[in-house]
Amino acid sequence: MLITDQTSRRRIPTTADMVSRMCGIAASVLKNGDVGPVLFDCLKKLEYRGYDSVGEASIIDGKIIVKKDKGKISEVERELHISDLRGNVGIGHTRWATHGAPSRENAHPHTDCTDTVAVVHNGIVENFMQLKQELEAKGHKFKSRTDTEVVAHLVEENLRNGRSFAEAVRLAANKLTGAYALAFICTSEPDKVVCVRKESPLVIGTAANGNFCASDIPAFLSRTNQAILLEDNEMAILTADQVRIVQIETGEAVNRKPFTVEWSIETALKTGFPHFMLKEIHEQPMTVRNALRTHPIYMDLMASAINKAKKVFLVACGTSYHACLGGAYAFSNLAKAEVTPVVASEFIDGHGALVDGDTVVLVVSQSGETADTLSAVRGAKDRGATILGISNTMGSTLTRLSDVYIGQNSGPEMGVAATKTFTAQLSVLIKLAVVLARKREFLRKSELETIEAGFQQLPNWISTVLSTQQDSVRRIVERYSDRSSLCFLGRGMSVATALEGRLKLLELSYLPAIAYPAGESKHGFISVVEEGYPVIFVAPRDESYSKIIGNVMEMKARGAKIISIVDEKDGEVARLSDDVIVVPPGVPSMLTPIVFVLPLQLFAYYMSVGKGYDPDFPRNLAKSVTVH
Ligand code: GLU
Repeated sequence: MLITDQTSRRRIPTTADMVSRMCGIAASVLKNGDVGPVLFDCLKKLEYRGYDSVGEASIIDGKIIVKKDKGKISEVERELHISDLRGNVGIGHTRWATHGAPSRENAHPHTDCTDTVAVVHNGIVENFMQLKQELEAKGHKFKSRTDTEVVAHLVEENLRNGRSFAEAVRLAANKLTGAYALAFICTSEPDKVVCVRKESPLVIGTAANGNFCASDIPAFLSRTNQAILLEDNEMAILTADQVRIVQIETGEAVNRKPFTVEWSIETALKTGFPHFMLKEIHEQPMTVRNALRTHPIYMDLMASAINKAKKVFLVACGTSYHACLGGAYAFSNLAKAEVTPVVASEFIDGHGALVDGDTVVLVVSQSGETADTLSAVRGAKDRGATILGISNTMGSTLTRLSDVYIGQNSGPEMGVAATKTFTAQLSVLIKLAVVLARKREFLRKSELETIEAGFQQLPNWISTVLSTQQDSVRRIVERYSDRSSLCFLGRGMSVATALEGRLKLLELSYLPAIAYPAGESKHGFISVVEEGYPVIFVAPRDESYSKIIGNVMEMKARGAKIISIVDEKDGEVARLSDDVIVVPPGVPSMLTPIVFVLPLQLFAYYMSVGKGYDPDFPRNLAKSVTVH
């Protein structure tokens, strides 16, 4: 876990802050052997970052060879055998298109007119139109519709003017506005990879048999655990036995030593599960335990900031937002703290006028790179707010922009649909609410003890649900697999659980599912219900239990099929249900989402698999989102 209490640089947001940080790039320079299989491996590990096209390039006998096409890595491999690419210097890319549709022409790597340079890119070159016009006026011919290709031609221009490879890249990078991580190879210096970074992630790996760079550490973790984080506006020149880093603007040398990555490679592989998603669902006993290991000092720093603030917002997108809904409920019920959860894309427009130096914005993002979240952060910082960050990605932009941040310690999450990171985020948020409650002396000793004991028990409860309920969830899914819609209902803390169950089903099965606070369901949704319509109730025996029985009755009276998630000792709701999924008894109300969401994750997983979809790669989605 990395934690910091840092003063961040303040700067004015530009559209560059709003661009994609999707896709994966990888490059390697080897002393011995071919880059094809190495890059192929790297790209497989990066596939979760974006996956509409794939490509690799290397230098063989002084010529650049490119293999690329649209499609998933395995499809392009079947067609082009990219892993057979020879040569000991190469670059690779898995794309999530921003400029130009997914196609062979637009797939990366891109080359210049003379096939001297090849480049892969993650991000957006904002001023590409203007650069393209200038280059076309000089006679450059473009083969794609991407923003990226201008970079290859810019480097070509600089080489033509007698610059070295690295200098040609550096000067080209100085002309770009926007966000980029770029990696290049060049036939005039065929022993090198040059890479540059501004606002898109890029990490270097160093090993005995050569050096690597990639968008993310898992890409090369099977080959080396020695990594160097490239900072914004830095460039690295990689040969097989050396890594040199310089400032893009000045060319001044930067001295930075590698650090040891402590993840095991197993955390980045499927470990025998058919999909990353299922593997990650099963990692939750461990990831929740890790999340709860957060160092008390930093919890205390955060709780103090919240305690002092006049206004507190919880800001996030998607699944992280659902974690925030649960978090806000816990803050209010445990610590009597008013914390307003807001989706990041609405934050500045809806609440910006309220944000000032007395405001704390607690921001939650798995990747720490979500564009909507980051622009909310920047807007809040500009108004003087204190930023507290919870992220799974150390070194991410969120962690850099935060005054205090906490790592949720979930390890890399490969499945596009968040599972283990949701329960870890909730664990951190609820623990933070408990720390604040202690500080405010609002919780009775017995209440505190119950929750503290609950934290200890969570990994066991999670293991029990996963080991006992998986088959029954699968059987229930089979019974409802032909339905065109479903609804998820819960009350109190379980509203967050119901919304998250709905989101998982939506994103993985493409079913227009519905979720409501159960009490609200009669104000509209109930008109949808007819004979056989499936309604899933999240029904822990907490303070909302007696009311949810009434909601179950309302649905039953209209012919709904009731699927309930209840605790093992449940009587009433289970009796009223057509299908029942049980979790262990005794989970404290505030911790219920962490346990009750598990069957819903499995439900979405089996629904997706049953329909023949790939739950790790839902259509139209990518892991670390993207544009506004
Ligand atoms: N803007 C580039 C493109 O559309 C790169 C997108 C990406 O990051 O994958 O090709």
